Amino acid sequence: MTTVSGWGRFPLVACEMLRPRSFEGVAEAVVAGSVARGNGRAYGDAAIGATRTIAMTAFDRIRSFDPATGRIRVEAGVLLSDLIDTFGPRGFLPSVVPGTRFVSVGGAIAADVHGKNHHGEGGFGRYVDSILLRTGAGETIEASREQNSDAFFATVGGMGLTGVILEATMRLRRVETGWIRERVISASDLDAAMRALEAGDSATYSVAWIDCVARGRDLGRSLIYLGEHARAGELAQGAGRFPVGKDPGIAVPIDLPSTTLNRTSIRAFNELYYRMGARRAGGERVVSLYPYFFPLDSVADWNRIYGKRGFLQHQCVIPEVRAREVLGEILERVSKRGDASFLAVLKKLSHGDGLLSFPLPGYTLALDFPVKGDILIFLDEIDRLVVAAGGRIYLAKDARQSRATFQASYPALSRFNAIRKALDPACNIRSKLSQRLFDEV
Ligand SMILES: Cc1cc2nc3c(=O)[nH]c(=O)nc-3n(C[C@H](O)[C@H](O)[C@H](O)COP(=O)(O)OP(=O)(O)OC[C@H]3O[C@@H](n4cnc5c(N)ncnc54)[C@H](O)[C@@H]3O)c2cc1C
Repeated sequence: MTTVSGWGRFPLVACEMLRPRSFEGVAEAVVAGSVARGNGRAYGDAAIGATRTIAMTAFDRIRSFDPATGRIRVEAGVLLSDLIDTFGPRGFLPSVVPGTRFVSVGGAIAADVHGKNHHGEGGFGRYVDSILLRTGAGETIEASREQNSDAFFATVGGMGLTGVILEATMRLRRVETGWIRERVISASDLDAAMRALEAGDSATYSVAWIDCVARGRDLGRSLIYLGEHARAGELAQGAGRFPVGKDPGIAVPIDLPSTTLNRTSIRAFNELYYRMGARRAGGERVVSLYPYFFPLDSVADWNRIYGKRGFLQHQCVIPEVRAREVLGEILERVSKRGDASFLAVLKKLSHGDGLLSFPLPGYTLALDFPVKGDILIFLDEIDRLVVAAGGRIYLAKDARQSRATFQASYPALSRFNAIRKALDPACNIRSKLSQRLFDEV
C-alpha cells in the first residue's frame, strides 16, 4: 500500500500503486477499483483509484510525428514539458497548455484541460484526433469523432472513468518562436477586470490575476495578461528563436508551518504584486513562454507552503449573464475571510468539447484555500451560489464538492453514465472522485 494524494495533498489515501510497463500490463491492471494516474497534478482525488491506481508515466514514447502538419502520435504518459522541449525548437507547441507544463497527455485529455486561449480556441480535446483506449470491459478500441465517437466524447473530460488512454493522436500548433508578446493591463476593480477581459477577446491568450483579499472600492482589482506568439522579427537582437526551459530555480524543501500564509502575509504579497504589475501596465514586452504560461513551475513543490494538511483549489465557472453579480458576491465573501491565497485567477471560457468537460461560455475563478477551520462549510455555500447561477465546479481541481452539487451542474451526466456503462458494465474503473460523486452500484 502507498499513500497517495493529488497536488493539493488533500485527501491522503492509502491504495495499491500499479506500475505497468507494457500495454499487456495495463490490461492486467484494469481490474475492479482501478483508475489511471498521469503526473498527479489534479488537485484532489481524481487520480486515485478506489483500491488501485495505475501509474502511466512510464508510457512516454513518441510514436510518430509529421513535420508537414504537426500531427503527432504519442503514448499517454508523455508530458507536455517533453513535447515543448522536443518540438518547440522545431517550431511546434501543444495547441493548449494549462498553468503547469508537468502534466501528461492522458491527464490533459481526461480533464479536457483549458489554457489561456480557451475563449477563442477551445480546450485540449479539440486538438485530439483519436485515442487508443483500454476499456473497463477489457477491450482495446480506437476512438475518434468518426469511430466509436461516444467513447471519444466521454473520454475527453471523462476523468479517466471510461478506461485507460494508452495513446493519442493530436495536432500541435506551428509557431515561429517560443516567445510571447505580452501586454499587461491593470484593472482597479472587478468591473474593470471583466471589461478588460472582454476587450481582450480577440487576443490569442488572456488571463487575469485577481487580488482576492482587496476589499471595498478595490474589490476584484486585477492584472490582465494578454499574449500573442512573437514573430521572429520581434525578438531582441541575439535572442534565440526558442528560449531555454529552466528547471525550477528554487524548491520548497519542507512543509511550512500552517501559519506561514496568513491574512497579513497574503495582503502584503498581493499589494506588492499588484503595484509591481501596475507599473508595467500599458506597454508591451516579449517574454519567454515559460514564465508566461507556467509562472508557478519556477518553484518546485510549491504545494508545500500550505503545510502538512494541504490545500483546496476551488475553481468554478459562471455563465456570462450571471457572472458579474455572482463573482462579486463570491469575492465579497472571500475577501471578508481573508485566507484565500494569492494564486487567484479569473479567465473567460467558451464551450468544452467532452460530455463532462468543465468549460462553458462565461468566467472561471480559481482560488486556493488552506485546509483548516470551517473551509468545507464555506465552500459548500459558494457552491450553492455557483449552481444557482447555472455554473459548475472543475473536477480536476475538486476534492470536496457534494454529489448533489456535481449532479445538478453537469447536464450531460446521464448521457455520460450510459456510455460509461456500455464501456464498463461491471464498473471496474472507479476513482475516489467517482465514488464520491457518481451513483455507482
Ligand atoms: C500548478 C497547476 C496549474 C494548473 N493549471 C491548469 C489550467 O490552467 N487549466 C486546467 O485545465 N488545468 C490546470 N491544472 C490541472 C491539471 O492540468 C489537470 O489536473 C491535469 O489533468 C493533470 O494531468 P496529470 O497528467 O497530472 O493527470 P493526473 O492528475 O494524474 O490525473 C488527472 C485525471 O486524468 C486521468 N488520467 C490520467 N492519465 C490517464 C490516462 N492515461 N488514461 C485515462 N485517464 C487518465 C486520471 O484518472 C484523473 O482523473 C493545473 C494544475 C496545477 C498543479
